[in-house]
Amino acid sequence: MVVRVLDAVLDLLVPPRCAGCGGRGALVCPRCAAELTAAPRRHVPDAPPEGLPECWAAAGYDGVARRVLIAYKERGRTALGAALGACLARALTHLQVEGPLVLVPVPSTRRSRRAKGHDPVRRVAEVAARRLRAGGLQVTVAPVLRPARKVADQAGLTSAQRAANLAGAFTSRPVPRGRVVLVDDVITTGATLAEAARALRAAGAEADCAVTVAATRKRVPVMRHARRSQFR
Ligand SMILES: [Zn+2]
Repeated sequence: MVVRVLDAVLDLLVPPRCAGCGGRGALVCPRCAAELTAAPRRHVPDAPPEGLPECWAAAGYDGVARRVLIAYKERGRTALGAALGACLARALTHLQVEGPLVLVPVPSTRRSRRAKGHDPVRRVAEVAARRLRAGGLQVTVAPVLRPARKVADQAGLTSAQRAANLAGAFTSRPVPRGRVVLVDDVITTGATLAEAARALRAAGAEADCAVTVAATRKRVPVMRHARRSQFR
């Protein structure tokens, strides 16, 4: 925790290093920012779980996107939310999903929210919504999803095991009217997003699609930082 706070303070005091490449001068340098805001790609997991909406990811979960997400989520560099929100906004613009849009962030667990002091995906969704509104779109963020129970660590589980582990993991409050877009940081097997979509459906809303910052390119990769994240 102390290290994370220190990192955040240092971001304010010394010329920042790019979270993507380590170069001096910007939180995310123009080259890395360009990589984050490239055209989004459709992501179809090898064995898509039932009820998974159409998924789009702005970047692959390697290289720049992975390093920026880890710095943002695990190292307390909350200022990176701006770059990640821009990434998501760009993806949504590219998809030309017509409004009014309702962005529903996939929630962090209570425990990880407490540990990190913020809800990272919700923050990114809010930045994206502000940017899209500035561009004239009607967009709201609806943090209607809540963790319903504890789930086991997802790391190392197969697609089927992840789906079983997450069944009934979320509940949803009523969803505002509009085109509902699920928002998350990373998609791997799609189990989390399928469960989120199920919870929305139970509350009477159908997710139009899901947009994430990044998508893993392999089926179930072993991610070092996934150990700390229950939902990936
Ligand atoms: Zn860079």
